[in-house]
Amino acid sequence: MPFGIYLSVPFCKTKCSYCNFASDVFSRDRMQGYVNRLAQDIASAERMAKVNGGKWEPTADTIYLGGGTPSILDPAQIEQIFHSVRQQFAVAADAEITVECAPATLSNEMIEALVQCGVNRVSLGVQSFVDQEARAVGRLHTCKAVLEDIARLRVAGISNLNVDLIAGLPHQTPESWEASLTAAIASGVPHVSVYLLEIDEDSRLGNELLAGGARYHAHFVPDENLMVEFYERACEGLAEAEILQYEISNFSRSGMESRHNLKYWKRQPYLGFGVDAHSMLPSADANFDAIRLAMPDSLPAYLAAYDEEAHLPRLGRNELTFSQAWEETFFLGLRLNAGVNLINVARQFGVGQVNHAREVIRELTGLQLMEIEAEVVRLTPRGRLVSNEVFQRFVSDAVPR
Ligand code: SF4
Repeated sequence: MPFGIYLSVPFCKTKCSYCNFASDVFSRDRMQGYVNRLAQDIASAERMAKVNGGKWEPTADTIYLGGGTPSILDPAQIEQIFHSVRQQFAVAADAEITVECAPATLSNEMIEALVQCGVNRVSLGVQSFVDQEARAVGRLHTCKAVLEDIARLRVAGISNLNVDLIAGLPHQTPESWEASLTAAIASGVPHVSVYLLEIDEDSRLGNELLAGGARYHAHFVPDENLMVEFYERACEGLAEAEILQYEISNFSRSGMESRHNLKYWKRQPYLGFGVDAHSMLPSADANFDAIRLAMPDSLPAYLAAYDEEAHLPRLGRNELTFSQAWEETFFLGLRLNAGVNLINVARQFGVGQVNHAREVIRELTGLQLMEIEAEVVRLTPRGRLVSNEVFQRFVSDAVPR
């Protein structure tokens, strides 16, 4: 099966207050060195896969340049990255090639470079179409700038567009959330991602909320019940506009699902390069199901993690047992509205494993957190709201093969 290729660009113009990604603000002179290292790692992809016990595949049918803000690189640097990928992999003619862009950072030269590189999908980190909300978390765009970017991308021939929205931003109200949803729908984009604000110690806003403080507009963050209402309203409003939910946080018009992200949830192979990039390859050892690799999650650690003798990146490595693979099949597969097909699970892991899962499935269907139809299990809308608890049941009930 062809690989999905993920490329991480950990640079941003400013750090958004809610952001818990491995990205930061660095001077422009750090960027070329990073791009060179990325190109070096991509060039050694085959050895990296084999040395770490994975099966190699020289083709790719999705590429995803994320971060961070890839669109703040120079056009020539974007071209260098895609050139490296095409040198190493035979990229399918109909490959889905996505670049994440921060609205209002897209120069005409950059759009031209994206088109030249074969990019056919752009994901815009909009988060809110309400200017006050975007400003409060440190985003640099306005609603007007987002709509202009969408129009310019379409004129350039890139119409497969996603906008990200966050439910739970400071100052968000039911009315302003409705305004963001309405603007996303009216923009005509075929894909929308809706995330709940994550409150953890990895972001400045999250920290402030945990400490009960008021910096970063923390005291204007809607409460948890309201965030859940926003999420439910998004599911409903987007469905009315025929932008249908296919994953817990993702919605698209028919046939416009993110092919790259589907690989993660379907446990199909992918290779990641750059800061905090992860890979999953089928294992070359029949005793294991797959190999997971992880690159360091900060720029200095990534740049330092290089084996000069072997000419390979040093990375975290985990061999997945069949028991772990069985767990993943459920907790990743159940994120999808399409659910998990028990007949396929039986083919891969044996009928005994499926029968073991039936007890948990019976209990969860009784609680109306899951439903089962023609041997396909899926979460109910209620189950999606407590998905982590549901997934936990499959993790703790796994039986080693
Ligand atoms: S642009 Fe994206 S990656 Fe960068 S700080 Fe903001 S949310 Fe984080």
